[in-house]
Amino acid sequence: MAQESSILITGGAGFIGSNVVEHLLANGYQNLTVIDDESLGRLKRVDRPGVTCVKGDILDEALMASLLAGADAVIHLAADTRVIDSIENPAYNFEVNVVGSFRLLSLARDAGCQRIINASTGGAILGDAPPPVSEELPARPLAPYGAAKLAVEGYCSAFAGAYGMKTLSLRFSNVYGPLSFHKGSVVAAFYKSLLNGRPLTVYGDGEQVRDFLYVGDLVAGVRRAIETDATGVLQLGSSVGTSINTLIALMAEATGRREIPVDYVPARQGETRITWCCIDRAREVLGFEPGTRLAEGLANTWNWFSENVTVFK
Ligand code: UDP
Repeated sequence: MAQESSILITGGAGFIGSNVVEHLLANGYQNLTVIDDESLGRLKRVDRPGVTCVKGDILDEALMASLLAGADAVIHLAADTRVIDSIENPAYNFEVNVVGSFRLLSLARDAGCQRIINASTGGAILGDAPPPVSEELPARPLAPYGAAKLAVEGYCSAFAGAYGMKTLSLRFSNVYGPLSFHKGSVVAAFYKSLLNGRPLTVYGDGEQVRDFLYVGDLVAGVRRAIETDATGVLQLGSSVGTSINTLIALMAEATGRREIPVDYVPARQGETRITWCCIDRAREVLGFEPGTRLAEGLANTWNWFSENVTVFK
């Protein structure tokens, strides 16, 4: 995909989307369209020269058809992204994630837009699989969110098989970094607690393990994906497993706070206990190389949170 290509980014005003937009602009892309319902993100964050901002819902077929008519590629990030919310409201999660993505694929096909990069997930699709998880493992979602993402991967594969579209699902591990103030994911939640002088809440004993990927590394992988014709499924992560307790210790260093108060509360049902991933295939296919160490990424993220605290409070 050339830099003058027209790229539609759904959910592009959210945490990952706004980082993707910044990264693509910095790399010479100048024809980006962002659609976002602003349920969490804010379009003003990505309102720059070279970016057309559209407030709207991906379930709005007429709007999506008009946006896809001029698009060469789609980076599909719009989703109901929280595992825990999907457990509380599986029907809403299904509507946004499965129905919304299916419609997007159908409309893209009608519009002749062949290239779809679909944001997916490893941990929630694979459930409690023994790490390192890879694209080869059988799927066993433990929550509706993972089931929905699995279904969308299936449709992406089917639209490639049946209609020759170039669909690629990227399974993101736990992404953290700047521009995540509105997120409820663990790094953002912990930094907000620290800034508000509240203890951190840890669900369970803190020995659950995740693969934390710095958003700067992730967006480089997404750009590489746009620049190739790769199809199928690729896992993007750091390939390092880190427990929540270790994360807190690293945060103490990153923030210079020696004592971080923590409340341990019962574990949440439906969550995967231990997951981290193998990224060999993404390395090979995309040249994906996540170079940011967790300590460094946490320090960058803390700087951003500290500098922007008044803006978001
Ligand atoms: N977690 C936590 N406290 C929080 C937020 C998350 O202990 O305030 C834990 C959560 O139980 C999970 C891990 O951190 O084991 C990662 O949670 P997150 O919601 O960031 O991502 P996911 O569950 O989708 O991996």
